[in-house]
Amino acid sequence: MSVDTKKLAALLGWYKQSLGDNLVAALVVNRDGLIMDSLVGSSEKSLDEEIISGVNALVEPVLTRITKEFNSGSFGTGTFDTEDYRFIFCESGPEAVLVTVLDAIAGIDSVFPYAYLAAEKIARIFDGRTVSPVIPKLVAESSTDTIQRRLNKLQKVKIKSREYAFKLILGGDGAVGKTSMVHRYVENEFETDYKSTIGTSIMKKECTFKELESTIRFIIWDLAGQAQFKRVRQSYLSNAEAGILVYDVTNRSSFENINKNWYLEIKKASPNIALLLVGNKIDLESERVVSRDEGEVLAQKLTLTYIETSAKTGENINDAFKMLALQIIRKFIETQAL
Ligand code: GDP
Ligand code: MG
Repeated sequence: MSVDTKKLAALLGWYKQSLGDNLVAALVVNRDGLIMDSLVGSSEKSLDEEIISGVNALVEPVLTRITKEFNSGSFGTGTFDTEDYRFIFCESGPEAVLVTVLDAIAGIDSVFPYAYLAAEKIARIFDGRTVSPVIPKLVAESSTDTIQRRLNKLQKVKIKSREYAFKLILGGDGAVGKTSMVHRYVENEFETDYKSTIGTSIMKKECTFKELESTIRFIIWDLAGQAQFKRVRQSYLSNAEAGILVYDVTNRSSFENINKNWYLEIKKASPNIALLLVGNKIDLESERVVSRDEGEVLAQKLTLTYIETSAKTGENINDAFKMLALQIIRKFIETQAL
């Protein structure tokens, strides 16, 4: 297998720029513990050769663990502190692990989103899938007020008159089809091989309404559902204008968790969010265990719009996003009118 090493190096370059002075070094290590690429950060404490090989020894047991967990479907991400350094390991697909070395005193909460995003991109590079090495600016400030102000500016940018960009997030249990829905909507494709979302991918897609002379630009944040993301989940979920709550019509607990977990968690993070409830996988009619009526009752209870989809056949996928876009336009017009 040949890896696009130029792209990998470019990605690490962006990663270094995103982390700034916090970064001591970043390494991409393959499953055999070999360093595929590495980069020394701009921190004063720069790593010498010796430490780089020391990192290798540290990485080994983690690699073994990750390889084991990969087979059982869970994903390894972890931090490790030594006296001088702080390590973050992020699994990047079946082939690689991104190792981030920070100053011992560095805060890791602001680093995690970048690490996950970089890990996701590295996985794509190893897979030979198309991916841009560019890492956009994510949340970095610590003061909530500043974050609020910046994000408001950033995410509600008025691009042209009547053209706006909105942050869209997805909620729902793992494997209900969130990534597949986004993929179907953005690229009109469906991939059958199961690749769990490792980090975060951020995609853009426009939804145009000729009648209204409006274009909604969605900035879609696709989150990983794994538990270890909980600590940073709030910052992903906050400041979103739009959200899709997805369950799988063939999986009852995924339906129950919408009401029990996802709705509340998202509402707490983004109280004014426009939400849509989606029952996905309707192509699996013979395996269905949650009826359309039940979906509609839940939607009524939560005062959401409900739609049933199949990311596999593409049924109703565009309409789902369109319905959400319309809700946003309506909300926006209402607030403008005040
Ligand atoms: P996520 O964890 O919610 O992002 O779920 P994924 O998009 O990764 O999908 C999980 C699994 O369900 C994958 O194997 C998909 O191929 C499959 N899947 C997703 N949507 C559909 C659908 O509409 N119909 C069927 N039959 N399978 C689907
Ligand atoms: Mg996913």
